[in-house]
Amino acid sequence: MNQTSPEGICIDCAKEQELRNFILFQTEQGVCGYCQTSSQNVSAKQRLPELSNLIKALVRYYYDESSYNRHWGGDDIEHLLMSEDIIFDPHRCCSIDDETFIFIREKLIEPAYPDEDKGVWIYAGFDDGIRLMQNAMINQPSSFYSDLRYKTHMQNHHDLEEDVISWLRGIDDRLSRTIDKGDIFWRSRIGYKDRYIKTSGGLDHTLHYQPFHADSIMPPPPPLASAGRINRPNVSYLYLSTDEDTAIAEVRPHPGHQVSTIQFQTTTTLKVIDFGTAKLSQFSSSDRELNKYHSILDFNRSFSTPVTPEEKGKYLITQLVADCIRRLGYQGISFSSSVGSGENLCLFSPSNASTIDQSASVKTIKSLHYTHENQNSVLNPDDSFYKLK
Ligand SMILES: [Zn+2]
Repeated sequence: MNQTSPEGICIDCAKEQELRNFILFQTEQGVCGYCQTSSQNVSAKQRLPELSNLIKALVRYYYDESSYNRHWGGDDIEHLLMSEDIIFDPHRCCSIDDETFIFIREKLIEPAYPDEDKGVWIYAGFDDGIRLMQNAMINQPSSFYSDLRYKTHMQNHHDLEEDVISWLRGIDDRLSRTIDKGDIFWRSRIGYKDRYIKTSGGLDHTLHYQPFHADSIMPPPPPLASAGRINRPNVSYLYLSTDEDTAIAEVRPHPGHQVSTIQFQTTTTLKVIDFGTAKLSQFSSSDRELNKYHSILDFNRSFSTPVTPEEKGKYLITQLVADCIRRLGYQGISFSSSVGSGENLCLFSPSNASTIDQSASVKTIKSLHYTHENQNSVLNPDDSFYKLK
């Protein structure tokens, strides 16, 4: 055993950004429990309980229980953390050994089943004698989100509002954000208002595009407004993005399309709920808090993922949450873009931002960049496969 029992982790062993931010917030001289090396940049000793909860929360975020519970065919949690390279960086040194195993078990993982408001469970445990399994938060929606989505298909939205408002009251202290008067956002619309050829320039017949601007790039008025991710039919909300590229990507143009873009400026100070920038570390103090973060992830994904016209029932859940956010006095919702690197902002009152007409221009889309990931594929399914209806 080391003379000094390690009580933290050094910054060099941490790979995951939230873990790195946690360590860098308060470092001190100490021995790292992961690499057993003495360093000036070890997380502060008195924050060990928080560190333990954060690491358990990261395990829950990235890994299915089947990868760290032998009862489900996996390795144990200690060996997972000694070999995986999402949360830690085990390959940078060779002293990941029995001491590391003991540190992870005794200082990071125990107790495995704290009270739900005092710590994070990494194992699902038992219910009525039946062993349950946790799935990675990135792989499976939260029970709050799944239940609510089901209810939106069975009940009217106004019967569900009180449940959603009470959920919002448990998270809005960390999701509330102020947007200053005068802040700049972008909006785009496929097409242009008109085309012109300058006639006074002799032989110069260059084509000039007049971009959509002023009223022509505002959302349609209520009688013409169709349902969107956040607005119900006949409700006019203003969708903006934090940068021009994201605003263009959000209207999903094809190569060859002309797209009008324009800046908007907020006309007053706005209070919004921001789903896109919530941090796991703000919700890693207990199982109860972590479940809230899980549902925030689901809603951020729902707000940012467009659905096809035949799937419009999927808008019911985001429209319901938007109604409740508005009832709590907020003026909009911010969420990640699934097609651009920026954030989107939806304002409940279009008059809370105005166009900067001098910034309007028309672009021609030259190319699109698609990303993809492999899915499980089967060419000739045998009897072990069940064909879904
Ligand atoms: Zn280390």
